[in-house]
This record gives sequence, structure tokens and C-alpha cells, in this order.
Amino acid sequence: MKTYSTADANPAALRDKTTVIYGYGSQGRAHARNLHDSGFRVLVAARAGGPSFAQAQADGLDVDTPENAVPKGDLIALLTPDMQQADVYRDVIAPHAKPGAALLFAHGFNVHFGQIAPRTDLDVILVAPKGPGALVRRQYEEGRGVPSLMAIHQDATGKAKELALAYADGIGGTRGGVIETSFAEETETDLFGEQAVLCGGATELVVMGFETLVEAGYQPEVAYFECLHELKLIVDLLHEGGMAKMHQFISETAQYGDLTRGPRVVDEHTRTQMRAVLREIQDGQFAREWVNEHKSGRGKYMELKQRDLDHQIETVGQRLRASMSWLRDSASAKKEATEK
Ligand code: NDP
Ligand code: MG
Ligand code: MG
Repeated sequence: MKTYSTADANPAALRDKTTVIYGYGSQGRAHARNLHDSGFRVLVAARAGGPSFAQAQADGLDVDTPENAVPKGDLIALLTPDMQQADVYRDVIAPHAKPGAALLFAHGFNVHFGQIAPRTDLDVILVAPKGPGALVRRQYEEGRGVPSLMAIHQDATGKAKELALAYADGIGGTRGGVIETSFAEETETDLFGEQAVLCGGATELVVMGFETLVEAGYQPEVAYFECLHELKLIVDLLHEGGMAKMHQFISETAQYGDLTRGPRVVDEHTRTQMRAVLREIQDGQFAREWVNEHKSGRGKYMELKQRDLDHQIETVGQRLRASMSWLRDSASAKKEATEK
């Protein structure tokens, strides 16, 4: 594994250049503010009249419309939602980007799955923080940084890697360590992680546990605490110190139950399904399905999402969380928790 730290970055590579941050959402806002505070020239590209335009202005950054901003960019970071990137590239970036500019992504989806075929004169790079934007910002403000992935798809100028490292450094990524990867590896592992484990797997496990307890006659409120609320305690222990720290803090009874029952719940059937999910990512089936779903109006996506939001665990959770004042205090934690 190849990793880079602050010492490997050459900020001068980006210093007298203009970095256009296209999209001022979770990642875009954090990248723009961190780069600005690191002393780089940042220009936010946002739709006129949209909430992001006003937000970037309120944050004290230079903002312009995409058509005006893109031609000024030596580096253009495309940080709109993935499904909005192909049109944006085709309509604004391809016709207006400077010759020899760098195009940066925070996720390789569109390049890897052929939704965007960048102009051959552009450097095409990836810097993907392994965390939501609010964390990227907060860590930076605290003098730390979120570990990030870096990859080069196209090195038209011979400077692609230097630019990627300078950008990663500017957002704080090198403080946390930058791991070199490829667009393929970043895209496929990111999709697999969110589908099988982080978002898809974890929420199904939580909801099925909740349903099992409620169906057996236990109070939904108690089931909520056991299956959803307390998940954070375990995840925090894993996050801080892996299995060892978790085992150190949970009871012996919990450990014995974990070791003997866990493998029955997540079993070889789950492994078979995980492999199938991974294959659909690798062979492009998932990407085709999601792009088609987006293009045909997102009906299934909205319906499935609504089903999630209408579940009993949500009404019970809302009621219980209303009496946990510390959860209401942290709006950023809430936003972070909903993002991946
Ligand atoms: P967001 O959903 O937060 O992006 C919203 C921003 O995009 C808003 O500024 C919005 O502007 C703008 N936008 C949306 N559509 C358009 C459009 N057609 N033209 C111009 N601006 C548009 O995105 P994320 O930050 O979640 O994701 C950005 C990239 O980062 C993606 O590639 C994602 O995979 C990747 N990533 C995301 C992570 C995360 O934690 N969220 C983690 C790592 C990578 P307006 O206000 O005008 O609507
Ligand atoms: Mg992702
Ligand atoms: Mg789910």
C-alpha cells in the first residue's frame, strides 16, 4: 500500500492557480472552505438563485455561475451529486474548461462506469475523503484531517499526481494520510461498503432485529433502544479500537453471545449475497440500473425510500429522540449521520 503524508505534498503546485469547486453541498462546502483557509484561490461554481450560491457568499467565498466560473479553473472539482455529473460535464465543463485543466472527482462512479469520458487534454484525478463533508471540515479546523484516497485516471500534463496531492493537502487529507488507489478500486469498494455493510447491511440488520422483538411482544421503545440507539456505542468502540476495544468494554455475557450467535445471524447465505452484490457492482449492472432509475424519474427510488421512512422504527425513534436533548443539539451530527 502506498500512502502519502503532509511532507509528500507540494502546495506550490496549486498555489497560484484557481480551483473551481463545482457543487457546494456536503463535500463541496468542506473542500472549498478548507482550501480557502489553506491559502488557495477558490472560486465556487453554483447555480444562480440556488441555496448554494447564497451559502457560499455567506461563507465569505468568491462565487460565480458555472458558465462564468469553469473557464477560470485550472483545477475543477466536480462535487455535484453523482447523478448530476454527466450532464454538468457535457453541458458546462467539456465546452468551457481551459485546455490542460485538471478535473477532480470525490468518487469515481461516472468515469469508471463510462458516464463521463473526459477530454484527452484534461488531467483526471480523484481525491476522496473517507468521511462526510462536515467531518472533513471539523477535522481540518481542529488541525487534523480525514484519511483520503487518491487516484489518477488521466495524466495529460505530467502534473496530475502533484495536483492531486496538493489538493488533498489543502483539504487536510494528508494529515490523516492519503492512500493511492485507482478509480476502479475506489468506486467498487465504496459502492460495496455502502450497499453491503454501512448503509444497506447495517439498516436491514437494525430493522430486522427491531421487528423480531416487536413481533414477539416486546415494547417497541425498548426494541428501539436495543437495536438502533445502542448501535452507536458499539460502532464507536470498533471505530476507536477495533474488535479488541469492543471486547474490552462489553460484558463477558455479551461477548459469549456475540461469538456464538453472531455467525448464525450473518452466515454463509449472507456471504453468497455479498459476493453477488459485489459482482453486480463489478460488471456494471448496479451502475446501469441506478442511472436508468435516475433517468426514468426515480419512481422506484422514491417509493423504497418512503417505505423506509414510514416504518414503525421511525415513529418510535422520533418520539424517543425528542427527549434526548443532546441529539437535538448537534445539527451537524444529524446531517453527518444521514450522509454517506
Ligand atoms: P451533495 O448532494 O451534497 O451536492 C449538492 C450540491 O450540488 C449543491 O451545492 C447543489 O446546488 C449542487 N448541484 C446539484 N445539482 C446541480 C446541477 N445540476 N448543477 C449545479 N449544481 C448542482 O453532494 P455530495 O457532497 O454528497 O457528493 C458530491 C460528490 O462527493 C459525489 O461524487 C459523492 O459520491 C462524493 N462523496 C460524497 C461523500 C459524502 O459524504 N456526501 C463522501 C465522499 C465522496 P444547489 O444548492 O444549487 O441545488
Ligand atoms: Mg459513496
Ligand atoms: Mg435500509
